[in-house]
Amino acid sequence: MGVFDKMAESGHEQVIFCYDRASGMKAIIAIHDTALGPARGGTRFKRYDSEEAALDDALRLSRGMTYKFAFTDIPRGGGKAVLLDDDNGADKRILLRVYGRFVQLLAGRFGTGPDLGTSAADMVDIAHETDFVWAVDERFGGTGDSTPLTAQGVLAGIGAALDEVFGKPDLASRRIAMQGLGGVGSHLTELLVAQGATVIGADPDPARGKELAERLGIELVPDPDALYDVDCDVFSPNAVGGVLNEQTIPRLRCRIIAGGANNQLASPEDGRQLHQRGILYAPDYVINSAAPYAVIGAGELGYSPERLAASVQSVADALRAIFRRARADGRPTAEIADVIAEERVATAAHIRAMTPGTGTLPRAQV
Ligand code: NAD
Repeated sequence: MGVFDKMAESGHEQVIFCYDRASGMKAIIAIHDTALGPARGGTRFKRYDSEEAALDDALRLSRGMTYKFAFTDIPRGGGKAVLLDDDNGADKRILLRVYGRFVQLLAGRFGTGPDLGTSAADMVDIAHETDFVWAVDERFGGTGDSTPLTAQGVLAGIGAALDEVFGKPDLASRRIAMQGLGGVGSHLTELLVAQGATVIGADPDPARGKELAERLGIELVPDPDALYDVDCDVFSPNAVGGVLNEQTIPRLRCRIIAGGANNQLASPEDGRQLHQRGILYAPDYVINSAAPYAVIGAGELGYSPERLAASVQSVADALRAIFRRARADGRPTAEIADVIAEERVATAAHIRAMTPGTGTLPRAQV
């Protein structure tokens, strides 16, 4: 399929291919939809099997950002960038700076932050070249790590899901299978344990699990794949995408899926499978939607600490609305979330389609 066919299929506005002869920097910036506002999304640094795989990732992830912003009151649209790691010994700091120049050329139509393979420290290099980067390392005056707020939002979402399934949001004596004990997973584990939940964790990096097991006394599953078979109330994905698929869903022994990872469903069909199995799925881009507040709200828009804290409650409220509508319509929660997001984007597009006074239009349109 050609690039334009792919853009038409997923409703993208613009894709920018960036290349620098001297450094070999290659990046793809995908702008999905700016009806809600200028596009924002992280920059992923990754080695891809092909350029097509990199493009597909940028397209899929930027579309997800539109849907995520639709569940916040942050006036921003969906974008995402992938910086190709050719694994050829190139200096990453140079690649990031060159990439920053390209971001600046877009004059704010796209702005970025960390994602897989990039850190708050990497954002410092990008910030040397552009004003449109956030979640920069705190030591350089940025807002730093977004994972604590993301984890608080996920915790609130788990409470809303427990309430929907068991009629009460309490975590005491609930069993949570925690996939991934990195930034989000470890903060979430701390919060859950503090509220009396039992956490069974898994992470291929033994150091991550060991530290948490020693500090919080959580149980660890030595083989991360075995976590799918653990008997629990909530299975919480906080690692990589595509973990809910035709191989794993039949193995799950939980009532709820609620975690911070992006793109948890391998395909839309997997959302229907969870629904058929009677497992309540908290749509990923809703339950992890406190993250943009930590990055764009705090960094770009200067939201107050009170407003950031309120985003945690918004996550729970948004999920409760989705669960209610899914129950009433007898449809999967993943489908209902998409419908609500698309309704909000359509409303924003309609509002912005109104014609301003002729004085503000370019001469050619007057
Ligand atoms: P991270 O890299 O700090 O942690 C991910 C952890 O998952 C690592 O410890 C890794 O070893 C582990 N892991 C990888 N494969 C695994 C597997 N098969 N089973 C178990 N563990 C596995 O990343 P993070 O910042 O904590 O983000 C985690 C997820 O949440 C990602 O999907 C990310 O896109 C999403 N997310 C993060 C934020 C944020 O604020 N950082 C916001 C929204 C969404």
